[in-house]
Amino acid sequence: MVLTSAGLPTTQSIRRAHELEALGNFTLLERPLRPETIQSAMRAALRARSRQYEMRARQEALLRANADLEQFAHSVSHDLREPIRSIAVYSELLTARYTSVLDSKGREFLGFINAGATRMDALIGDLLAYTQAASIHDQDVAPTDAGKSLESALANLAQAIRESSAGVQFADMPSVKIRDIHLQQLFQNLIGNAIKYRSERRLIVNVTAVREDGHWLFAIQDNGIGIRPEYKETIFGIFKRLHTNDRYSGTGMGLAICQRIVERYRGRIWVESEPGQGSTFFFTVQA
Ligand code: ADP
Repeated sequence: MVLTSAGLPTTQSIRRAHELEALGNFTLLERPLRPETIQSAMRAALRARSRQYEMRARQEALLRANADLEQFAHSVSHDLREPIRSIAVYSELLTARYTSVLDSKGREFLGFINAGATRMDALIGDLLAYTQAASIHDQDVAPTDAGKSLESALANLAQAIRESSAGVQFADMPSVKIRDIHLQQLFQNLIGNAIKYRSERRLIVNVTAVREDGHWLFAIQDNGIGIRPEYKETIFGIFKRLHTNDRYSGTGMGLAICQRIVERYRGRIWVESEPGQGSTFFFTVQA
């Protein structure tokens, strides 16, 4: 708002004007202003204010649309699980009890139904995990001992580590502001991928954590098949995969879930890689 002093100001009116100026919404003008100047200043102020309102309304609409979509994905994945499970259960029962009365084509078709239902169940399960790693920002989380989360992830991967004869090396792990279950999921997905996408060489996975300004930078480095530079970003998308299911099984959701978890804590996740040499996945978590 503008306060003009028409004619000569008195001591009292100047004091009052200073008081109003101190409130923040007023500007004291020493000389009278022309009406056109005031008009154009007011128009500009109104335009700026209406832009602000528009932006706020758009932001709110976007948040609402996001929440709706999340809710939709959550209920769809939840509701779909039951019918898919029954397809899987009954096709397994058919295989177990009626294989002898089916010819080879019939057995082959049943095999396809089984494989389809199992894959669909995995996809839905991962979609559900994705919606559960909701994008709301978690603040003031109690610190977690990253060493414990890593231990739990490695225990869950014990069989895959044994079967691939992988060597997993790690140094001292810090305390970080993230829920244990989320950090465990991150380690499990990233080390699990290192195992899955290993090369002919013996797999060595290195897990490190380095303190940087206000956060810890975790790195999971492998000497596997690597990732071509043009896919460095797309691999974090939902259902994005670089290989067919016959070669490497998977749903293409692991990295999307990792990204969601990291962003929930206002961190970043990215990959650096040299095809044929290996990949290093980095993510940051608040200290
Ligand atoms: P999934 O493993 O189920 O395909 P992800 O989202 O975990 O899904 O990974 C997406 C894609 O990124 C994978 O299909 C794979 O091509 C690539 N990828 C992920 N991790 C690695 C890795 N450590 N080495 C090479 N490629 C990887």
